[in-house]
Parts: sequence; C-alpha cells; structure tokens
Amino acid sequence: MTQEVNVKQTITLLRRLQESDLEIEQLNHKIASIPRKKDVLNRGLQQYIQMVEQEENRLADSRKERRQLEHSLEDHNLKDARYADQLMQVKTNKEYRALLTEIEQLKAKIREIEDKILDLMEESEELEKSIRWRKKKLEKKKQEVEAECHRLEKEEEALNHQLETKEAFKSELQDKLPLELLEQYNRIKSVRHGIALAEAKDGFCQVCHVRLRPQVYYDLRANKSILLCDNCHRFLFLREDEVVDPTKLM
Ligand SMILES: [Zn+2]
Repeated sequence: MTQEVNVKQTITLLRRLQESDLEIEQLNHKIASIPRKKDVLNRGLQQYIQMVEQEENRLADSRKERRQLEHSLEDHNLKDARYADQLMQVKTNKEYRALLTEIEQLKAKIREIEDKILDLMEESEELEKSIRWRKKKLEKKKQEVEAECHRLEKEEEALNHQLETKEAFKSELQDKLPLELLEQYNRIKSVRHGIALAEAKDGFCQVCHVRLRPQVYYDLRANKSILLCDNCHRFLFLREDEVVDPTKLM
C-alpha cells in the first residue's frame, strides 16, 4: 500500500468516524428527549386530574354547606311554628307587636337561608355537569396519553437499536485507525465542540474560515500526509472531486 493510498484511506476512516459520532450524538439526543416528552404528557394529564379533583372537592363542600343550611332551616321552621303558638297566647298588645317583629325577622332569615340553599343547589348542578363532562374528557385524554407514551416507547426502542448498530460500526472504524491518531481525533473533538474534521475548499478551512497556506493546500491535494488546519487544528480533508493528481498541480 502506498503512503498516498494509506493517507487517503485514513482520512476516509476519520470522516466516517466523525459522521458516526455526530449520528450517535443525534441519536442520544433523541433518546434523551423521550422521557421528557413522556413527562410533559403525564404532567398534563395530572393537571387535568387535579382539576377534576378540585371540582369534586368544591362539590363536596357545596353539598355539606347545603346540608348544614337545611338543618338550620328545619330549626328556624320549628321556631316559627312555636312563635305561631305563642302568638295565640299573648295577653298584651305590646307583647303581640314584639312577637310579630321577631316573627318577621325570623321569616326574613328563613327566606335568606332558602335563597342560599337554592344558590348552592344550582352550583352543585353546574359542578356535577362539569365533572361528568371533564371525566368523559379525562378518559379520552388518558387513552391518548397512553397511546402516545406507547408510541414513544416503540420509538425509543427503535432508536436504541439504531444506536447499537451505529456504536458497532463506530467501534469497527476505531479498530481500523492507529491508536495515536484515534487519541488525537478524540482530543481535537473534545476541545472543538465535537467537530474534529474540517473540509478544505477553495483554499479555506470550511469550519474556521481561515485561508490555508498554499503549501498545506498543496500537500493536502497530494495526499502526502494527514494535515491539520493551522488555525483551528482540525484534521483537514478534501471532497473526492477536489483530490487531483498532484503531478497535474506542478
Ligand atoms: Zn480551521
């Protein structure tokens, strides 16, 4: 194997490794987003369940208040009946008027309680209606969330499978590269935001946009050795159609 072929193959391997790394990163990103998506769905459902619970609590409170008022109404009505008896037995006009005033006050109180009971009955009816409607909707929401979570789990499974395949491919690529070069690649990648390779095109590094020295560009075209960009220190590569026979450059 000539050196030229060797350099060309090594660069190709590095490019594939870079592609694999980027694909793996993307897959990991997608996989990591799935639990978050499921969380959002479940939180939405929980909020809806809480809303139903709040209405149920309000309904229970409303019913309780109504029962209390109904008891109070019974007491007031009993008192009213007693007053009616007393009215028959009063001896003086003064007592009679005083009792009448009390009866009037009592009746006003009774009307007030009755109105309140009616309001509470109306409120209960509205809440019952709303709760029935919400519970129906909740069932639908539960099914939707369940179906979506199931879909996401399937997606996660498929992504994990893809990831395994990519990791295996990456591992094969790594095995084919000299260890020293692989370490260099990983070093560059870790300090250069995950991008260890840069395309050289029209005389420029396409990542940091710095003009390449003519010699670097020439050597690159000649496939004589693995080269780095002077500025960003990434491995440089040319697309296939730019790799020309060095003799033609002379
Ligand atoms: Zn550069």
